[in-house]
Amino acid sequence: MIFTGLEPMQSKPGTPGTAESIPLCVPELGGNEWKYIKECLDTNWVSSVGSYVDRFEEMMAAYVSVERAVATVNGTAALHIALIVAGVEADDEVLVSDLTFVAPANAIRYIGAWPVFMDVDPGYWQMDPQKVTEFLDNECRWENGRLLNKTSGRRIKAVLPVHILGHPCDMDPIVKIAKKYELAVVEDASESLGARYKGDMVGSSADIACYSYNGNKLITTGGGGMIVTGDQKMADRAKYLTNQAKDEGEEYIHNEIGYNYRLTNIQAAMGVAQMEMIDDFIEKKRAIAGKYQAGLGNDSRIVTMPRAEWADPSYWLYTVILESGTDIKSRKSVLRALNESGVGARPLWHTLHDLKPFESCQSYRIEHSIDLYHRGISLPSSVGLNESEQAKTIATVKTAVDSMTANS
Ligand SMILES: *Cc1c(COP(=O)(O)O)cnc(C)c1O
Repeated sequence: MIFTGLEPMQSKPGTPGTAESIPLCVPELGGNEWKYIKECLDTNWVSSVGSYVDRFEEMMAAYVSVERAVATVNGTAALHIALIVAGVEADDEVLVSDLTFVAPANAIRYIGAWPVFMDVDPGYWQMDPQKVTEFLDNECRWENGRLLNKTSGRRIKAVLPVHILGHPCDMDPIVKIAKKYELAVVEDASESLGARYKGDMVGSSADIACYSYNGNKLITTGGGGMIVTGDQKMADRAKYLTNQAKDEGEEYIHNEIGYNYRLTNIQAAMGVAQMEMIDDFIEKKRAIAGKYQAGLGNDSRIVTMPRAEWADPSYWLYTVILESGTDIKSRKSVLRALNESGVGARPLWHTLHDLKPFESCQSYRIEHSIDLYHRGISLPSSVGLNESEQAKTIATVKTAVDSMTANS
């Protein structure tokens, strides 16, 4: 099977280890999923309230060490609500990473707000706090208690760092500069559940954070998401907005426009079962990363996944970049060779600033995200990836890079 899906992260259903192909990242469903879902069906608690929703929210809050968690229908919906709760309004601007899956930028647009794309640090591939600071200090002005973008004249309201591939952003300088200008910080931790920043769980440093339980994420509910926050008011409001903004009581009173963004009890049941195994999943992801590092780290034509000194990555999706100077054509040929050999590798995220829906949006000093996109390849990283699959992947990467070098 060759991976040619249009949706870049759509993992194909299938069992890790099938003869045809090694999938990029598929769910690991070896726990109590059947048992808990059956219980929902047996008891008729199948819809958007139920004990598993409460339990899943409690487990996530405890795991991330924050006060509250609010389950949502998916991670994109979580981001949409988190931005509203953080005070983002139509025509505001939100600084967001340029190198990420598209969901956070879409969520900003759902509100009618505008993304301003920020470059990444070339060393560890996440939002560059230095450039965020420079942009806010030099390209914006403080006026009547609001921070205005000198170029667009719009209000800057929030910063949205995205922790990609299981590695945290450098949160301290981002939170510091955001405080200085009274901006909200919304973390997109969808790809980095279980990663730690300076010892703290990703998703606990900012005002509010979001997770995804899509099929390819560290744990899955089929589809699902979560908002976490230490702020009770924000949590209450998120819960309210995800439930059609229905006031308490019997009558159908709605004082503002709400959303039907709730997670079902069936999905939450699956989430609880998955959460029971999360430590084991992370251990396995870290072991997989260790083997990729050992197998590819000594090849001068490949740069293995970086780890900042303050980071304990969860290694959700192990990604390498080809050596400096590699163009996108060569990277595509390596990827094609991998796919043709049955290795379900995929490109790294496309930079957002040059995608069609965001062409009119501002970006600030983009230098490194493009280069990483051109050179990046994500490798099979399922929790269930076995030794022979990983050995095959490593060998195939080397062969593919050999032929790229020979052709150039
Ligand atoms: C997966 C993902 C999301 C959310 O995706 P959903 O499919 O809506 O759950 C958001 N941001 C990033 C960076 C992601 O990778």
